[in-house]
Amino acid sequence: MNTTSDSNLRQVCDGGQPLLVMAALLAVVVIAVVIAYITRCVRAQMEGNDQPQPQHPILPLVRPPLPPARKFSEDDEPTECSIFLEEFEAGVDVLRLGTCGHLFHLICIDQWLEGHSTCPMCRGIAL
Ligand SMILES: [Zn+2]
Ligand SMILES: [Zn+2]
Repeated sequence: MNTTSDSNLRQVCDGGQPLLVMAALLAVVVIAVVIAYITRCVRAQMEGNDQPQPQHPILPLVRPPLPPARKFSEDDEPTECSIFLEEFEAGVDVLRLGTCGHLFHLICIDQWLEGHSTCPMCRGIAL
């Protein structure tokens, strides 16, 4: 009696084990993949939350940087800022456009270039 049930049990076990093992392995693999996926998502989210977004300052208008400004000196030949319509005074910040060489107050040309990309004097490409 005991022998018979033992052998029956073993047969059932032997027959069922490969399927069970495969199912178990498959489950483990699936679970591992899911956990890895979730972990990656969570980590990406946490990193995204922890770190500030890439340092791209939001500018009102994308434009190339201005050439370096300089002080207008008395040695410079008297010129008129075509925006301000006034001769430059010694010591004011002026900026000479690199492409056409026209000279403007730094403040004037800075404001002008907020809305334009051309030289206010010759309408050439300013930057
Ligand atoms: Zn000016
Ligand atoms: Zn110009």
